[in-house]
Amino acid sequence: MHKIQDRITQVNIRIKNAASNAGRNPQAITLLAVSKRQPNALIQAAYDAGLRDFGENYLQEAVEKIAVLAMPEARWHFIGPIQSNKTRAIAEHFQWVHSVDRLKIAQRLSEQRSPALPPLQICLQVNIDNEDTKSGVNVTELETLALAVAELPHLQLRGLMTIPATQYTADNSPFVRLQTLFERLKKHPQLANMDTLSMGMSGDMEDAIAAGSTQVRIGTALFGERTH
Ligand SMILES: *Cc1c(COP(=O)(O)O)cnc(C)c1O
Repeated sequence: MHKIQDRITQVNIRIKNAASNAGRNPQAITLLAVSKRQPNALIQAAYDAGLRDFGENYLQEAVEKIAVLAMPEARWHFIGPIQSNKTRAIAEHFQWVHSVDRLKIAQRLSEQRSPALPPLQICLQVNIDNEDTKSGVNVTELETLALAVAELPHLQLRGLMTIPATQYTADNSPFVRLQTLFERLKKHPQLANMDTLSMGMSGDMEDAIAAGSTQVRIGTALFGERTH
């Protein structure tokens, strides 16, 4: 129990230091606990210690956790690749989706989101380094996608998400490039309300916070190595 509390404290210190180095308010940065492939007891302990935002990549695993864990105030974020046949369950069980990268998926999520629920909160995943193996919309197609997603009734477009290539140099930070794209998109009146940059993981949260991250997605630094 205090182990997880210690880890949360350590991660919060990293966030605070990075924010302070960047002249930013640490309160503007949400800690999203990435709980994929972690034991339920540990996730519950993190919730009991006060965390409220949890990220999951695998639908079946996530739906089971949401059902059995006693986390009534948790906000669940879907952050993994999305196949069309998974959109209905995602629209039903999650509050946020960070990994929308094509219009068809966004349209299905909007159609399948119950109008009785608040709109699903959406980030578009950007393939910032144009990697063949990575999900995400290409930079050249981002603006068209963002303008189309902003029109969908049961979604609220909040911003952008990225998972950069593991190697990058300080003078070519993928986080700075994402922030530049974000600011450019926000010049469209329909996109001016976007407020979320989902970027930064256990190994690179400082660079992401320096570039304006508002949600860091942290797995191993909080929970340790994944179990399977
Ligand atoms: C697994 C995962 C993370 C967490 O990565 P860590 O390096 O364990 O912090 C963050 N974002 C996404 C999209 C992931 O799949």
